[in-house]
Amino acid sequence: MTGRFANIIVDISHEKVDRPFQYRIPQALCGQLAVGMAVMIPFGRGNKLIRGYVMELTDKAEYDERKLKEIASIVKGGVSAQGDAIRLAGWIKENYGSTMIAALKTVLPVKQKSKLVVKKSIHSKVDAQTAIDKSLAFEKKHQTAKARLMKALAAQPILPQTLVTGKLNITAQTLRALQQADLIEIQEENAFRNPLPHAVQSGWQRGGKKELSSNQRAIVTQIMAEFRRGIRQTYLLHGVTGSGKTEVYMELIEQIISEGRQTIMLIPEIALTYQTLVRFYQRFGERVSVMNSRLSAGERSDQFERAAKGEVDIIIGPRSALFTPFQRLGLVIIDEEHESSYKSESMPKYHAREVAGELCRIKGASLLLGSATPSLESYYRAQKGEIKLFELKERLAGGQLPQVYIEDLRDELRSGNRSIFSRRLHTLLEERLEKGEQSMLFLNRRGYAGFVSCRACGYVVKCPHCDVSLSEHTVKNRASRLVCHYCGYETPPVTNCPQCGSKYILGFRAGTQQIEELLHKEFPTARILRMDADTTKSKDSYEQILSQFANEEADILVGTQMIVKGHDFAKVTLVGILAADMSLHAGDYRAGERTFQLLTQAAGRAGRSTLAGEVVIQTYQPEHYTIIHAANQDYKGFYEEEIAYRDLMMYPPAAHMMAVLILSEDELEGEEHAKELSDRAVSRFAENRPTIIGPSAAAVGKINDVYRNVFYIKHREYQVLVDIKDNLEQFIEQAQWSRCSIQFDFNPINTY
Ligand code: ADP
Ligand code: ZN
Ligand code: ZN
Repeated sequence: MTGRFANIIVDISHEKVDRPFQYRIPQALCGQLAVGMAVMIPFGRGNKLIRGYVMELTDKAEYDERKLKEIASIVKGGVSAQGDAIRLAGWIKENYGSTMIAALKTVLPVKQKSKLVVKKSIHSKVDAQTAIDKSLAFEKKHQTAKARLMKALAAQPILPQTLVTGKLNITAQTLRALQQADLIEIQEENAFRNPLPHAVQSGWQRGGKKELSSNQRAIVTQIMAEFRRGIRQTYLLHGVTGSGKTEVYMELIEQIISEGRQTIMLIPEIALTYQTLVRFYQRFGERVSVMNSRLSAGERSDQFERAAKGEVDIIIGPRSALFTPFQRLGLVIIDEEHESSYKSESMPKYHAREVAGELCRIKGASLLLGSATPSLESYYRAQKGEIKLFELKERLAGGQLPQVYIEDLRDELRSGNRSIFSRRLHTLLEERLEKGEQSMLFLNRRGYAGFVSCRACGYVVKCPHCDVSLSEHTVKNRASRLVCHYCGYETPPVTNCPQCGSKYILGFRAGTQQIEELLHKEFPTARILRMDADTTKSKDSYEQILSQFANEEADILVGTQMIVKGHDFAKVTLVGILAADMSLHAGDYRAGERTFQLLTQAAGRAGRSTLAGEVVIQTYQPEHYTIIHAANQDYKGFYEEEIAYRDLMMYPPAAHMMAVLILSEDELEGEEHAKELSDRAVSRFAENRPTIIGPSAAAVGKINDVYRNVFYIKHREYQVLVDIKDNLEQFIEQAQWSRCSIQFDFNPINTY
């Protein structure tokens, strides 16, 4: 059906216009429109032209035909949403709560096709000797430009055009003449072909395929056997780091390609390292493409276009790579599936793992999740038999699990040790320096130690706009500043407590920077590298620090959680975890899980090769179950205790939880609306009532002068929460709240 009318979603994310609007299709566009296309339409009283997406073509007018407006034009080069993408957007809207346009924009991360940047190169069509002969002949005829180019091509048969027209100063006319003489050829190549650093492309050698172990092979065989029989399901691969998960992924990808299908592989951005990419390039060459946040919009759009055309079989990238428009998707792999970066922080607050599940249902693809420390969600589903669990228990490239020591910091203090380093850690660090082995010191998170408080009265310096404590930052050659991590507010440090006047108002000195300074003091000969948000601001600095450390240009690497991911360092035999329990006090129900993951990963960094590793976990709570299980690398032990707690408290995954965030410019109004909505959420239930927490001011009560109130609802059934969401959405659409908006977050991973 061509249709005379189009139902269109407008590109304005607001509850009031969150429905299709009908337009007439003008004669000129007849037959050219398709579902998913981006169009320009007159909208509102002023008939301002805005963008919209065609959701449906129909012959049925919903209103008086004469009153319908006409579509103005089709957006040139606009990326159109395929039917599958629209279905996925609909699912996202329904399950996470957002406007349709916000959901559409999520599944269409690139709105506009890029103008392709074309790279030209000059290819010699003759051999080196002929080129030299020609060059000499041209010289005799005083055709110096032609002579120059042929000489250069004799040395290097392919030259970038920029070099030829630039440095060699050859005109277009000369090039044409040589082309007509059949001596050269000008080839055009899309400059975005491959976004990987050139060094990788030119340096790679194909190969790198390993003979799989029998455990690895059994996993691949079973998944592929089911795939070929048309069985699609979700698999969880639980395997310690170094157990050979990536080799399993690569073998599966190869077999999926041989079935004529394509693969999306998600890796958290921070683990998307050079080393990993090289492995994939070696194995799959040009059939792989990579996405990351550093790609320009143009490069990204080019990657998507190549995928849509079937020019690549594998796309590797973070969360948004999930929306690669493959026609024949056969497999989605999510590595490090427990990572919090798979959850979107802006509306719609979807989780890539869950969306991948729906995408695979739509596309008839299989889903493989992999992790050394699976999320409670996935392991819970595996325990219930909803997904199939595979395990890889041993490290393959040799290397035993390290010896772990738990050091009680309270004991240290009692024995008169006031240093950040326990006595054992100090001794072991010294040993490493003597032996010429490397150490990594891991501090739980940035900024926790940066806050400034009064030792006399307890006053903490906070941001006047955001209600969070300010962090002390010292920049080289500059006086220190107090900085707000939310809004960037800065102020000079205070010298006297604003509350009691005491002079003892100080920063709690134990950030990565302070640790680096202390190390310099205690180990003057040690070469030290630091990696945290401050030292990795500039492009490539992250990779740079890692490769310096890998090249053994330093003895000790100090850092935040960034250092626990990704790379293998053969010479690292000691890992120190400086304040293991800091993340236990993050104040949300996932704190234990996060702590366990961090400790397990950090500990896993030691002893990756044949050298034996040691790990020191420093803590104020040596008896805490997360710490004990992490020290033993005992995931199951941890899971059993953690799931019992979640079940008791009705936290996900044992139950479901929805956060409702109310944002308001007016403090009082925000509070009133939050109360009204939370009352409304439960009022309809006679029995099996959901549990409500709050409403209350959010932990960060104000950001950029917008007040934040929040309440949480818990229920065993997800659908009940979805129904409540729908009900509240409808209510809000009718209510005339002008200075207030709401956001939903299902199974949140952060507190508000
Ligand atoms: P993971 O992804 O679980 O961390 P990898 O797949 O990266 O594990 O494997 C860890 C190391 O073991 C790598 O150096 C890899 O090349 C090697 N490896 C994996 N599988 C095999 C195998 N079947 N035979 C030999 N080496 C292997
Ligand atoms: Zn004070
Ligand atoms: Zn602020």
